Amino acid sequence: MSDPTARPTLEPMPADWRTALAIVAHPDDLEYGTAAAIASWTDEGRSVSYLLATRGEAGIDTMDPRRAAPVREGEQRAAAAVVGVESVEFLGLADGTIEYGPALRRELALAIRRHRPELVITVNHHDTWPGGRVWNTPDHRAVGRAALDAAADAGNRWIFPEPGLAPWDGVRWVAVSGSPYPTHAVAAGPGLERAIASLLEHRSYIAALTGRDPREYARELLAGAAAAEGAMFGGVAAVAFELFPR
Ligand SMILES: [Zn+2]
Repeated sequence: MSDPTARPTLEPMPADWRTALAIVAHPDDLEYGTAAAIASWTDEGRSVSYLLATRGEAGIDTMDPRRAAPVREGEQRAAAAVVGVESVEFLGLADGTIEYGPALRRELALAIRRHRPELVITVNHHDTWPGGRVWNTPDHRAVGRAALDAAADAGNRWIFPEPGLAPWDGVRWVAVSGSPYPTHAVAAGPGLERAIASLLEHRSYIAALTGRDPREYARELLAGAAAAEGAMFGGVAAVAFELFPR
């Protein structure tokens, strides 16, 4: 009989690609767990770009959204630069009330046609987070699902036609980090220090979130997550993904 408590064993992430586009809802979504993978990929000479649906203006309880938006945008650009990501775009949708639907799919499909990635990265589109019954947020669900859909939409010339923008049917995988159902992983070790530095760029957010020393907080959180995901990857600290091939 199989052991019902056994953790799944993850496959290595595909390595035969050059260009990725990460599509997420908010500043900090990639820094809470994915950035170690991104740092190691850019180190290998791969190109990774970020597309953020919002500027995260509703993410700091003690800061008015009009002030928070430019602060968080700046912190996100700095966080991206730390892991070798130069292209950071913001769609400027309203934080907290992103709606899943054709309008969002269209925005993401056009971005995929512009960037022409082989790999699309997004964050957990499921109802809950791994390891328990913590409910996910509507923005993550909407953007994650729309990114999965837009990978196909981008390749269909009859869906969301846009003059001057050719279809792009070259997305080979969509990789979802933070999924309760991971299938693949990449070693986190080579990128972990820069991932910690990348998360630390979200100074305003972290300061409002915790009274702890930011460095201790970031290290404990990211090293802990990499160890937990690595338990499913032969004990090597890892970033796990649910991979959807196309
Ligand atoms: Zn988020």
